[in-house]
Amino acid sequence: MIKNADAKPGVVVIGGGPAGSALGCYLSKAGIKNMILESAIHPRAHVGESMVTSTTRVFKDLDFLKVMEREGFVRKYGAAWHPPQKEGEFAIEFREFPQPGVNQDYTYHVDRSKLDLLLLKHAQGFGSEVYQGVHVREVLFDGDRACGVRVQAMGHTFDVPASVVVDASGRKTVLGRQLDLKINDPIFNQFAVHAWFEGVDRGTEVSADFIHIYFLPVKRGWVWQIPITDKVTSVGVVAEKEVFRESRLDSDKWFYEHLRSTPELARAMRNAKRVNELKSEGDYSYCMERFCGNGWVLIGDAARFVDPIFSSGVSVALYSAKYASEQIVKGFETGDFSEQMFKPYEEKVRGGVAIWYEFIRMYYKLLPLFTYFISSKEHRIQVLQLLQGEVYNRDDVPVLKAMRKFIREIEASPDSNVFKQALSDIPID
Ligand SMILES: Cc1cc2nc3c(=O)[nH]c(=O)nc-3n(C[C@H](O)[C@H](O)[C@H](O)COP(=O)(O)OP(=O)(O)OC[C@H]3O[C@@H](n4cnc5c(N)ncnc54)[C@H](O)[C@@H]3O)c2cc1C
Repeated sequence: MIKNADAKPGVVVIGGGPAGSALGCYLSKAGIKNMILESAIHPRAHVGESMVTSTTRVFKDLDFLKVMEREGFVRKYGAAWHPPQKEGEFAIEFREFPQPGVNQDYTYHVDRSKLDLLLLKHAQGFGSEVYQGVHVREVLFDGDRACGVRVQAMGHTFDVPASVVVDASGRKTVLGRQLDLKINDPIFNQFAVHAWFEGVDRGTEVSADFIHIYFLPVKRGWVWQIPITDKVTSVGVVAEKEVFRESRLDSDKWFYEHLRSTPELARAMRNAKRVNELKSEGDYSYCMERFCGNGWVLIGDAARFVDPIFSSGVSVALYSAKYASEQIVKGFETGDFSEQMFKPYEEKVRGGVAIWYEFIRMYYKLLPLFTYFISSKEHRIQVLQLLQGEVYNRDDVPVLKAMRKFIREIEASPDSNVFKQALSDIPID
């Protein structure tokens, strides 16, 4: 069934989500034989439907932007935040910060089942050998060097050799679990419940097609509202897992209770009808101890997952594929597939995601005070730059330092009780 199982090994990619498909495209472009093994049969549903503008560069690289346009995904021009008890929103528009190499002032909201299928087909069109319904059970090692995978398909088990194994299995983290590399996040332990609705009142303003984030009056609680089509809206409730546990409610009741908990949200959802099953996700923030080793690399969620408040996940998946492909190509040029060869990839992605993480941490610490940085002339463009996914190859992010300084000053000041109360209990050291 798998044609190449005995042929000269190339790269075997575990998982055909955005990370795996983008990697397949980059490798095929460079003339490197690759095989994507996907356990599901696409289209398959997936959480993570709103993107950031930095994804445009990768889509352009891969000649995929025209597919995004052809398929008519909803254009996303900005983002809006709604405070918990007051009416009104703080909005940003991407056109305020034109990004180098990005010639459009919008990104997209996507039905992931459609996007992921299109991207996987695109990889196949570029030359990836794609097999769906094939479950990778484990990565095979020769000593400490990965040399293939053991798969299960249609009741049979067989081995596929590889020069490099790339784990792009998302939060299933096939290789991370096998090598016991997973470190759960010390701060974020969140829980999300989400579904699609028709009849959500998105308003008529310019921000109707933005992503809307409603703050909830509970620990690290928020709601996303993402337009998937002109009729369908994705709505998700997120909070610390302890908030869910302490409520003693089942996930359905918990979800609907939070949708009623702020006036603006309750109004938006007044006539909304659910059109698919509620799904929940938990325990999703973590980092792998290492992102690479001899003969193997982890990309996308298989390497690292940070809180989704800024819609960073697909961007990280695509950029990690891009940067991993650069080192893998060098590996094929030199015949060196060692950990050392792949290390520059790890450093680049670790550095970029560390900036996302610091930004997320500052955001949850500041909560309403975050809007000061959006409104400030001095900081707004830098905040936008981050929100648009400009996190790689940066030595210095002055606005993050400014946020830390601001927090320290509030904590140290004897007279800033109002501000102190606004800060959350997130540790920043
Ligand atoms: C609550 C929540 C909200 C989110 N919101 C957003 C958002 O708005 N925007 C955003 O950009 N991101 C968001 N994300 C993150 C986003 O979902 C992920 O970052 C993104 O899907 C990562 O892509 P990936 O290719 O690494 O993994 P995935 O998309 O998960 O793809 C992995 C693939 O591997 C396959 N697979 C798994 N195990 C095996 C196996 N053993 N053998 C073969 N195949 C296997 C799976 O079937 C899957 O198709 C959110 C995440 C959560 C939890």
